[in-house]
Parts: sequence; structure tokens; C-alpha cells
Amino acid sequence: MSFFDKVKQGASDAAKKAQQTVEITKLKAQISSKEKEIEKIYGLIGESVYTAYVAGDPSRYGEIVESYSQGIAAVKLDIEGLEQKLIEVRGEKECVCGKVVPSETKFCSSCGHQFA
Ligand SMILES: [Zn+2]
Repeated sequence: MSFFDKVKQGASDAAKKAQQTVEITKLKAQISSKEKEIEKIYGLIGESVYTAYVAGDPSRYGEIVESYSQGIAAVKLDIEGLEQKLIEVRGEKECVCGKVVPSETKFCSSCGHQFA
């Protein structure tokens, strides 16, 4: 590789790295906002159950918890998707055991799993 090719390659790598950093920051912000959403729902569960208690209607507790919990499960699913993207953007992959390793890894250092 000539000197100029090396310089060009370096600039292109730096641009890629910058793009990756932007992407990672964006994904982290999205995850954090989803986590705040869950916190909010936890609060709503408490408030709604208390409101039902004050109204003397404990039969509604189950229904309240059920419907808000479904909402939390949906948001958690979104978070999982975003975390998956984060792993990809970082050039990593997740093993069957849950360990995150660099994408070129052939064997998991934690469980020994062989990647295809
Ligand atoms: Zn593993």
C-alpha cells in the first residue's frame, strides 16, 4: 500500500469510527429513554392500584397490573432490539450463553461455544 493509500485508508477508518460513535450514542439515548418509559409505567401501576384502593375496588388490582405489565413487556422488547443493534454497530456478537464478544471470535471465551 502506498503512502497516500494509507492516508486515505486512515481517513476513511476515522470517518467510519466517527459514524459508529454517533450511531452508538443515538442507540444509547434511545435505550435510556425506553428505560425511563418503564419507570413511568411502574409509577402508573402504583397510582392506579392506589386509586382503586381508595375507591374501594380491589377487584381491579389484577386487571391494572396485567395491562400495565403488558406495556412494560412491549417496551422491554424494544430495548432488547436496540441492544441487539448496539452489539452489531460495535462490531460484536452475542454468544448463546449471553457473553458479548468481538464479531471475528471463533470460540466463546466464557462457554467454549463454536461460532459458525
Ligand atoms: Zn458463550
